[in-house]
Amino acid sequence: MPSGTLSILEPATEAVLEEVSRADAGDVDAAVARAKAAYPAWRALAPGRRAELLHRLANRLEEAHEELAVLEARNAGKPISDARGEMGMVVATFRYYAGAPERLLGDTIPVEGGQAFTVREPLGVVGLIVPWNFPLTIAAWKLGPALAAGNTVVLKPAELTPLTALRFAELALEAGLPEGVVNVVVGPGSTCGARLVEHPDVAKIAFTGSTEVGRSIAAGAAASIKRVTLELGGKSPNIVFADADLEAAASAAPGAVFGNAGQDCCARSRILVQRHAVDRFMEALEEVVEAMRVGDPLDAATQMGPLISAGHRADVSSFLDDDAPVAVRGSAPDGPGYWFAPTVLCPVDPGTRAAREEIFGPIACVIPFDDEADAVRLANDTIYGLSGSVWTRDGAKALRTARAIETGVVSINSNTSVRVSTPFGGFKQSGFGRELGMHALDGYTEVKNVYYSTEG
Ligand code: NDP
Repeated sequence: MPSGTLSILEPATEAVLEEVSRADAGDVDAAVARAKAAYPAWRALAPGRRAELLHRLANRLEEAHEELAVLEARNAGKPISDARGEMGMVVATFRYYAGAPERLLGDTIPVEGGQAFTVREPLGVVGLIVPWNFPLTIAAWKLGPALAAGNTVVLKPAELTPLTALRFAELALEAGLPEGVVNVVVGPGSTCGARLVEHPDVAKIAFTGSTEVGRSIAAGAAASIKRVTLELGGKSPNIVFADADLEAAASAAPGAVFGNAGQDCCARSRILVQRHAVDRFMEALEEVVEAMRVGDPLDAATQMGPLISAGHRADVSSFLDDDAPVAVRGSAPDGPGYWFAPTVLCPVDPGTRAAREEIFGPIACVIPFDDEADAVRLANDTIYGLSGSVWTRDGAKALRTARAIETGVVSINSNTSVRVSTPFGGFKQSGFGRELGMHALDGYTEVKNVYYSTEG
């Protein structure tokens, strides 16, 4: 039985939004047992039937789109326009992976004395541990391929933002997914998350969160050679060459750092600008940052909401010490709520803490560079490697730079990182494995080779 109650706060008001039961390690064990019991039948379901159930789930999510968007906006403090877009992506993710059960293809391999072919087997029970910044979206990136491949799941949302995950579990049942296929456990990472990682009946952990916790999950999973997918932190570069459309680059740059109040692993928080274009770039950037509408997440005109918690606001504030070269400061509401005004630092020394650590808040660092080689050197001078952008009108330079950057995702003349049909994940300490696209299915299946002798 749940061992306590958890008060879920609304970051824009600091008021209690809902009280939910808080799970402990025993509840995780029970959820894993339910998932294990449901696995044989789910796995054995004909691929077309599994596809049909995932389509029905997408339909049910679509019907609940506005309800989920409002819940996510209030619980995570994100603008409702963003939350609506995210719930649209959740629906699209399940539709995409509804096509997967019938497309899990194998190879036929010529060998002596018979025929070899490969099949993709599900892993079993998969543990999904997700953060508070894009609660249901990031869960969907894991749930979609995991379920399509025939696995059953135990989802552990972040304690700060469990509400859409809990609603998702109800919607999955309403859509006709059998009991036990989707299980949600709301409890602390240190107990419930850790128990999932060590549980002998959990075949794989798919995790999104901090690099520090990702490291401990990789270490814990090593004990049983558990499979892991890790989507971790970032300090992504946005490289703006002087020959770019500077207006376009400058007007897009704030959204790429201040979107979701900077609480985005893909935040392009290091804006590298060619030195002789810095003044022109900053002029255009300043206008956009000062015009940003920060406020009530439920107002359709709001572009940025509050930070997730008081503790997180204190962490973000620690980057604005007396020496911080504040060049632009937008506005934010007073009063209750974990507000923080969008802030641009310029010029930033690449050796400083603000330039090196993931801030995970609305603080952008503008770092001047001299030439292409200098831009690539600065871009790669980090332990992270998740996303990045290159802005230039020179196509060859754009491609050279995109290839030279050590990140899993790069955009040219754009700051977008994520599409349902394309692979997403990090180089270096930004993670391991890929989510989304058909690549994600590799992380939820094992390849089995079958040899059939054709001799006598
Ligand atoms: P965490 O990495 O601590 O949390 C992510 C998830 O992991 C949550 O569900 C959390 O549970 C769970 N968790 C925590 N500890 C363990 C553990 N020992 N074993 C298993 N699961 C665990 O992120 P924070 O919320 O603490 O954020 C800290 C920093 O991490 C941010 O400031 C940011 O820099 C980075 N971050 C990166 C994200 C990304 O998208 N890559 C997302 C979130 C954070 P619970 O919270 O319920 O305790």
